[in-house]
Amino acid sequence: MIEPAREIPLIDGYDVIVGGGGTAGVLAAVAAARSGARVLLLERAGFLGGHIATQLLEHSAGWFDALGQQIVGGLPERLVERLVEAGASPGHVRDDTGYTKFRVPVNHEAYKSIVTAWLVEAGVEFLVFSPICGVLREGNAVTGVIVENKSGRTAFSAKVVVDCTGDADIAALAGAEFHSDPDNVTQPVSLLFKVGGVDHRALLDYVEANPADFKLGLDPRELRDQPFVNLWGFGQLLKQAQADGVLSFARNELHYAGAIQEREAVINLTRHAADATKAGELARAEHVLRQQIMEGLHFLRRYVPGCGNVFLSATAACVGVRESRRIKGRYTLTDEDVRSGQQFDDAIALGGFPIDSHDSRGPSMDGAEHVRRAYGIPYRVLVPNTIDRLLVAGRCISAARKALASARITGTCMAMGQAAGLAAAIAARSHLSTHRLDVGELRGALAEQGAIL
Ligand SMILES: Cc1cc2nc3c(=O)[nH]c(=O)nc-3n(C[C@H](O)[C@H](O)[C@H](O)COP(=O)(O)OP(=O)(O)OC[C@H]3O[C@@H](n4cnc5c(N)ncnc54)[C@H](O)[C@@H]3O)c2cc1C
Repeated sequence: MIEPAREIPLIDGYDVIVGGGGTAGVLAAVAAARSGARVLLLERAGFLGGHIATQLLEHSAGWFDALGQQIVGGLPERLVERLVEAGASPGHVRDDTGYTKFRVPVNHEAYKSIVTAWLVEAGVEFLVFSPICGVLREGNAVTGVIVENKSGRTAFSAKVVVDCTGDADIAALAGAEFHSDPDNVTQPVSLLFKVGGVDHRALLDYVEANPADFKLGLDPRELRDQPFVNLWGFGQLLKQAQADGVLSFARNELHYAGAIQEREAVINLTRHAADATKAGELARAEHVLRQQIMEGLHFLRRYVPGCGNVFLSATAACVGVRESRRIKGRYTLTDEDVRSGQQFDDAIALGGFPIDSHDSRGPSMDGAEHVRRAYGIPYRVLVPNTIDRLLVAGRCISAARKALASARITGTCMAMGQAAGLAAAIAARSHLSTHRLDVGELRGALAEQGAIL
């Protein structure tokens, strides 16, 4: 059918609109507002924070390279400091698996409050429960977005729009081009869950007795007396549970992020292959993954030492997406760029997390490669090649699949968010095309905000 045309209110006067108040979006909005822009942040969920909050992430990672050099600073690091001050994170702690050097455990509930206060302090205006469902365009330039929420349908215009929706929803609505793979495979979607009532002493006894079943970056005895433990393994137990019919799905390993004092752990076990841009597939994933959570809980209670009395204390708020749309930008970050630690004159951030690629068809990873040295993320991967006055940041940048499997990590997404927000503010101020931005000025402004380039 053809939807009838109708008049809707238009609210203007914004320099920058950021779509999506998640990992990258919060940083984009704060960075733009701090450089003097009038910023509106639009979020579809009822709260801000994105995947760190909705998905109960094990920790935020991507802050250090394989050599132990810090590669993300600036406003993302200010956010870590705020979390630490509020008692919502211990800051950068050692990664026991050796997969990455350090990681940042985060209290997910406090995270929502802390980022919201930070945005308000920076002068960012925001709306929640406000999915972006349309764009305003003049020629090839995006001039605003349309939102449908409790107040009805409203258009908002701005000089520059930043798409931090994860799925590149704004770019898709604007008619941007996307990378596609012949078999249309993406990494699987998941629902993390949290259990309480863990007896960590018994669990760590088991790890010490069975070190071969774990990827350990240290002597397991060093796990004792630590407030946070990070474990990757349990393959033997998972195999047994599948053979016994307790688990209906095959998994070679699970990820366990434990908080000892709280007797809690976040469990990353569930997997389902889905196209996260299709509503029907998301609904199916919601059903399948929630069944997997219940099987996973049963598995923990029956097979894992120290978990006999655990209870389900939280589940992710919605299906977690590792990969969906990737824009075709003015440059595409290649797998080789990431593997070789490529540097770029227009780098606006650094990445260094391993290529972390989960297999949607198999029981494990189809890639877990260490990145030897930090690679640059060029400004051009944020710029859709056929659309002006629109930037993207987060997991929807212009990148090849394995390259994104590294760059999608939260620390890197935050650094990209800061860069996209500042770039948008500069373009808005100078009335410049986002395609012709003075990247030297952007890099200078990033350095002033403490970013590591
Ligand atoms: C299961 C799982 C485990 C992971 N584990 C880790 C980990 O341990 N450590 C780590 O660092 N990273 C981890 N990651 C990766 C990381 O969480 C994501 O890649 C990263 O958070 C992506 O950031 P983003 O800003 O692109 O998206 P998000 O943080 O998802 O933010 C996107 C925001 O946009 C909003 N939005 C979407 N569409 C619209 C719309 N149309 N209108 C308005 N708002 C919209 C969303 O609600 C959300 O708030 C994990 C990911 C998954 C799925």
